[in-house]
This record gives sequence, C-alpha cells and structure tokens, in this order.
Amino acid sequence: MPDPSSPADPSLAYASADPLVTFDGVTRSYGSVVAVAGIDCSIAAGSFVALVGASGSGKSTLLKMVNTLETPSAGRVLFAGEDVTQMRAARLRRRIGYVFQGIGLFPHFTVGENIGIGPRLSGDPLPASRVAELLELVELDADMASRMPDELSGGQRQRVGVARALANDPELLLMDEPFGALDPITRDALGEKVRELHDRLSLTTVMVTHDMAEALLLADRVLVMDAGKVVADGNPGDLLRGEGGPIAQGLVAVPRQQAEKLAGLEGRTRAQ
Ligand code: ADP
Ligand code: MG
Repeated sequence: MPDPSSPADPSLAYASADPLVTFDGVTRSYGSVVAVAGIDCSIAAGSFVALVGASGSGKSTLLKMVNTLETPSAGRVLFAGEDVTQMRAARLRRRIGYVFQGIGLFPHFTVGENIGIGPRLSGDPLPASRVAELLELVELDADMASRMPDELSGGQRQRVGVARALANDPELLLMDEPFGALDPITRDALGEKVRELHDRLSLTTVMVTHDMAEALLLADRVLVMDAGKVVADGNPGDLLRGEGGPIAQGLVAVPRQQAEKLAGLEGRTRAQ
C-alpha cells in the first residue's frame, strides 16, 4: 500500500490540498493596457509557487490584487474562500506577509522598528523577544535589532525584509522579486532559507522571479506569465521535460544552456 501521507509524485501534493488563493477570471486594465488578462488559477494551501515571466507580463499586478493593493477590473480574487475586496484590508493583510519589489527598509528606523512596523501600525507592537525570534528565523543576531538599515549588507537587509513579512505570523507569503538585487551566492543562500522557512512554518508562498533557474530549484509549481496570461503551469519536472509550451521552454533553455556550456568548459580544461 502506498503511504498516502507521502505521495510518490510530490507535485500531486498541491493538486490535492484546499486552495488558499483562487483567481477567478481576474483581469486588471489600465486604460488600454491589459496588465492581467483573465486569469483562472488556484494556489493550494502549503504550496510554494513561482510566478515567472518577462518584465511587464503582469506578475506584480497579479500579486498586488491578492492583498488589495490593486483591485481587479473584472473577476474576483478569493482568500480562504472569501472575496478579498469584501474583507477588511487590515484583517486580510495581517494574514499575508509581503516582500515588495525594490522597496527596502525605512532608513530612519532601526532594524527592530522596521520588523515591527506592521504590528505597531495596527496598535499591537511586538515585544523585543518576538523581534529577536524573527531575527533568529532569518539567521541574524538578535543585537542587530538596534542597527540602522545602512549598517547592513544587501543580503542582511533582504533577510530583515523577510523577517518583517513574517512578523504577523502570516498564512501566505507573497514575494515580489525578493532577491533581484543580490549577488548570486547570497541569492542562493537566501532562496534556500526562504524555502526552509516555508516548510518549517507551513506557509503558502508565491514568489515572483524573472529567474527560471531559481523558480525550478525552489518551487513545487511554476506559473509562467506572458502578456497578462498564464501560459504554462506545471511542476519543475514537467517544465524541464518541455511540457510547458514554447514560452516556458524558452525560459528553461537559458539556465540549461549555461549549465551545458559550463560542463563543456570543464571538460576542455580537464583535458588540457
Ligand atoms: P511585471 O511585474 O511582470 O513586470 P506589472 O504587473 O508591473 O508587470 O505590469 C504589467 C503591465 O501593466 C505593464 O505594461 C505595466 O506598464 C502596466 N502597469 C502596471 N501598473 C500600472 C499602473 N499603475 N498604471 C499604468 N500601467 C500599469
Ligand atoms: Mg514586477
């Protein structure tokens, strides 16, 4: 008898769980620009989903509609079965951690104040012990709480950004190109850290990235967007086998060709 708690194909895990987020015919237009063009898709509770696509394909707009930073022109976004536009924004956003694209920390606040900003604004400031616990989650020393953001490296600042997103103990973690500006080694380490936190805290995670290699290595499921539509939806194995269609295949080809070139180079240098 197969053990039902450990499916042979881990990609089936997301297909069987209840959806935490559902996009139901979601469209968002800005004048004549259709940023998101009729998306129907569910994100299963507990899954780690990467949203990949070229710049301007609608990734950020789709993410923002989940926590109502943007509202659909047509269709609905459901969070745990409720239409997000019908929920109180403060209540919704407490359940969602958001790591914003390109928006860093408040420069005049300490690291600890940055981490606690959400709870403080909602009138429920974090105790120092919770700030220390959040710093520990992202592997930073507790004494960093009193530092200013400009005293941190880029990677440390992004770790603080992740700690801030986790401050309210969210169910859903949304990350918009969280590691875009980091060097490859820091980026790799932080990606693995986020995946580990996702598993340890039983989060549901949606991470926007333009890096297909990062998506394939970290996510259970990869959605590829192009011109406001989802053009491929599969697990990393499906996409690597070329089952995602031409746009996904084009994105997968980039890291694959790099790996092949490196392997070839390694072979030549060894033969010398
Ligand atoms: P991505 O995150 O994939 O780069 P975005 O969701 O930011 O894409 O943008 C999708 C499209 O919508 C782009 O053409 C962009 O210019 C347009 N867009 C996004 N936000 C706005 C806005 N506030 N006003 C007008 N156009 C916008
Ligand atoms: Mg974007």
